[in-house]
This record gives sequence, structure tokens and C-alpha cells, in this order.
Amino acid sequence: MALGDRPSMRLEPWQDPRAVPSIVFDQVSRTFEGVIAVNNVSLDIYQGEFFSLLGASGCGKTTLLRLLAGFETLSSGSVSIDDIDMTHVEPYNRPVNMMFQSYALFPHMTVEQNVAFGLKQERMAHAQIRDRVAAMLKLVHMGKYAKRKPHQLSGGQRQRVALARCLVKQPRVLLLDEPLAALDKQLREQTQFELVNIQESLGVTFIMVTHDQEEAMTMSTRIGVMEEGRIRQIGTPTEIYEYPHSRFVASFIGEMNIFEGFVTEDEADHVLVTSEEAGCDLYVSHSSSAPAGAHVAVAIRPEKVMISKDPFHQERNATRGIVNEIAYLGDVSIYHVKLASGKKVLATLTNQFRLAERPINWDDEVYLSWRPESGVVLTG
Ligand code: ADP
Ligand code: MG
Repeated sequence: MALGDRPSMRLEPWQDPRAVPSIVFDQVSRTFEGVIAVNNVSLDIYQGEFFSLLGASGCGKTTLLRLLAGFETLSSGSVSIDDIDMTHVEPYNRPVNMMFQSYALFPHMTVEQNVAFGLKQERMAHAQIRDRVAAMLKLVHMGKYAKRKPHQLSGGQRQRVALARCLVKQPRVLLLDEPLAALDKQLREQTQFELVNIQESLGVTFIMVTHDQEEAMTMSTRIGVMEEGRIRQIGTPTEIYEYPHSRFVASFIGEMNIFEGFVTEDEADHVLVTSEEAGCDLYVSHSSSAPAGAHVAVAIRPEKVMISKDPFHQERNATRGIVNEIAYLGDVSIYHVKLASGKKVLATLTNQFRLAERPINWDDEVYLSWRPESGVVLTG
């Protein structure tokens, strides 16, 4: 398969009712002495996906990965890979390989020997081992360092050797637990792209655990957002960002303005929500499962909020307040605007002007508005 060719992703198999998932978690739970680490998780992952499990520390991500690898036993439910129930399959007989949080390279072995180790154990022919190891080191840009020992490598290089060591055995699925956590920011961003390129070129399914939302957003085909052992939402990065279902997911990924209110109109093409804290009626141009009268919230991203010193002449999706704070971030500024209700609203403005020429300042009265398609009704 050519680099960057990602046929399974172009087809978006999760959209195709005929597609058969490769990994199936079916109502999986795991309890530790009364603590529910994983709570009734059902999840389908397709061959060739880069799937991320995203959530705060302690929400059950690692446990879910270990259940798939077979290092942990199920309290209930089942896990299957390619239609084979894994319940009674030993970890070493599962077509998965796990890259651990600490890379755990053998310190006395060279890079080459570390990568070859698993193949030697399988008693593969020497010439074949040499070729496979060389090809894999080339793939992770470590060919020049084949004779070095782990202590002679940087953190990023050790990470790549660990990756090569996992991939050289050609697993169908690679499990990565916080693979980039030990790298500094710049190296982490560079390695994110490399990891995606390698995954695409091999067509191996990657399942990655991370607590870093940006990392999950940039690398994944789909993301499962977890909270307290449960999966709260599964979707592509865009779906998760643009169409969160719940207050939790909406506020977990990036900044979000959330207005509480009540549904007053519930139509096929729009929802109208009355919100005291917004100081205006909120018109959202999509349908919702919430009936009239239901308590819901409407979420609007700061970058979708228009801010101006001149009023917007409309009754809906338009309110006003006082600028409370301005966070200057170089390319953009984030305005914190306090409404009459006391509610704080964030609005992002691109910095077309130099700081001294800023058109809107502290304590200015400003008007805020957004388009009907910018809001999302949250029912959860
Ligand atoms: P995450 O990887 O999202 O940080 P974990 O899966 O490691 O979360 O842990 C989820 C929960 O299960 C935590 O409350 C953790 O303390 C608990 N837990 C995990 N492994 C064990 C274990 N072996 N014994 C007891 N509790 C555990
Ligand atoms: Mg963990």
C-alpha cells in the first residue's frame, strides 16, 4: 500500500452497514474490588483505523486496552477479534501487540538486537530477520542508529525503536498506551505525524490511549471519549468537535459556551430554546430529540461568536454584554464578555490589527451574535 493511501478510511467503514468490524467490545465491564474501571462498553473498530480512547486520568482507558490484549480478565461481556471470541485466548496468541507507556527496551542490546528480539524467539531464519529489521528501522528513520544502545538515544529515538519492535512482528492490531507522553511538545507534534504516516503505510489498526485532546484530534480516524468507565461518545474528530451530544463532551474538547434553557419550538428543521442566561432566544437550525418543554443546553464555540460594538439587528442569537477580559494569543484574541445575567461568554477574534489599534477594549459594551447553524443542542 502506498504511503498516504488509506482506502478503508476513504470509505469510512463505520458508515457502511455492510462493513464488518475487526474488533468488537460487547457490553464489556471490569470491576476491581467494587471499583468499576470499565462500565458496559460496546465498541466496534475497523481494520486500518487509528482509533483513540480519550479521557481524563483514571477513566478506564488503560484497562480497556489491557482487556483487549488479554492482560486483564473481563468481569462481564466479551471481546472478539476478526469474529473470534478472545475470552479463552492467551495474550501471546492474540493478533495484537502492545506498546507500553515506558518503552521497556533491553538496555544491554543494540537497537537492532532490540527490534530483532521477538523474531528470534519465533525462530525465524537469520536472513529474514535481518531484512525485516532493516526495513522496519528504515521506516522509523532509525537505520543509522542500528548499532547504538538505548542509553545513547534521545527519548524520541527510543520511542521509535519501541514502535519498530512492536511492528516488526506484523501484528494486525497495535495498542499504544500514551505513546508520546514522555516527549517534549515539539518532538511530540513531529512524532504524531510520523506515527500516522507509519500507520497509514502499513494499514495496521492502531488503538491509542491518550488524555491529550489535541493529540486525539490530529491523529485519529475516530475517537471514543470516556468518562468514569463509560464511553460517552464515539465519532470522527470533526463530529466530536462540531456535534457533541452532551455537556461533558462539549466542554471536554476545546472551549465551549454552554447556555442552559428550555425548548419552546421543536421542528424538523429547527429548535428554539429560551435561555435566561443567554439573554435571548436561541435558534438552532437542526432537529433535536428533545421535545418542547425539555431542559437542554445550547453549545456555541467561541470562534463562531461574532463580536462587535455595533448592534446586530435581530432578536434571536444576539445578545450583549461588557468586555471583562481579553486574552491575547498572538494570532487571535479571546474576549470574555459578561452578560446581564452574569454569564460569561467567550468570543474569538482574529488579530488583524496591532495590539494598540485594537478595536474592542476592556469595559466596552459589545454585541454578540452567531449563526443558526453554529449552535448545537445538548440533551445529555
Ligand atoms: P486510565 O488509563 O484512564 O488512567 P485505568 O484504566 O488505569 O485508567 O484505571 C481505571 C480505574 O481502575 C482507576 O480508578 C484505577 O485506580 C482502577 N484500577 C486499574 N487497575 C487496577 C488494579 N489492578 N487494581 C485495582 N484498581 C485498578
Ligand atoms: Mg492509563
